[in-house]
Amino acid sequence: MTKLVTIEAAIQLAADSLQVISDSAKLDAELLLLHILNKPKSYLFTWPDRTLDDVQYSAFFELVAERAKGRPVAHIIGHRDFWTLDLEVNNSTLIPRPDTETLVEVVLESINNLNITDQSRGLDLGTGTGAIALALASELPSMSWLGADFNHDAVNLARRNAQRNKVENCQFIQSDWFSNVGSEKYAVIVSNPPYIDPTDPHLSEGDVQFEPKSALVAEASGTADLEHIIANAPKYLTSPGLLAVEHGYDQGAIVRQAFNKNLFKNIKTFVDLGQNDRITIGYF
Ligand code: GLN
Repeated sequence: MTKLVTIEAAIQLAADSLQVISDSAKLDAELLLLHILNKPKSYLFTWPDRTLDDVQYSAFFELVAERAKGRPVAHIIGHRDFWTLDLEVNNSTLIPRPDTETLVEVVLESINNLNITDQSRGLDLGTGTGAIALALASELPSMSWLGADFNHDAVNLARRNAQRNKVENCQFIQSDWFSNVGSEKYAVIVSNPPYIDPTDPHLSEGDVQFEPKSALVAEASGTADLEHIIANAPKYLTSPGLLAVEHGYDQGAIVRQAFNKNLFKNIKTFVDLGQNDRITIGYF
């Protein structure tokens, strides 16, 4: 029997049932419904009174039930918007976060202080889906970008994301941080490494439970990989060169100290969308 539930009512019903597990319940419901309807975002707001047919209704509430078990929306629908890109996402790596767009913004603002030419290269360490490298490559088409990840599945995912978004000035390689990067020098090095303390209770809450620990957690209270990247970046940077890293809200001071110890200049920390310390840069 046809239930004649409108788009608006279906979203409300789903959002109510997702309220307990998600702090973005309505948006989650909208993204799941768009996936079922296979329509552009504007469709839901243009046609709130259209009714769902039985097939759409049950397919939608199957996805809502999966979300209710905690599975991230990006894993259910298989993609996530980041910057101007639509990225394929899977459980081999981190789901791109809006806060990481701040890293892209900060690099685009800070790059004016460098002598960028069409010979200039950029490097993204721990690229995951390729989010940062692809966003920067698409904004800086004269540069060539390289994204590196130790995980082969992530490298393949990032390569598919370059194709999916038609970004041609970005390559990807398997590399454990700098291990396979070679002897090229880079004008810009960026990274969103794992930086969560292994004992952080948030690791067993929300979407992060479904993401690989290797993309989230680092030794030394979360700072081990940051320290490794900051200590080794000078060997791979041109002069002038820029290093920009994402880090935990409480790691600004320790990250600035590491930049300082490794002789970076004009070191500065920027806040994310929630006004937490999140990005630190320095010039070499
Ligand atoms: N910002 C992410 C989180 O708190 C962590 C990402 C990372 O470790 N690089 O879930």
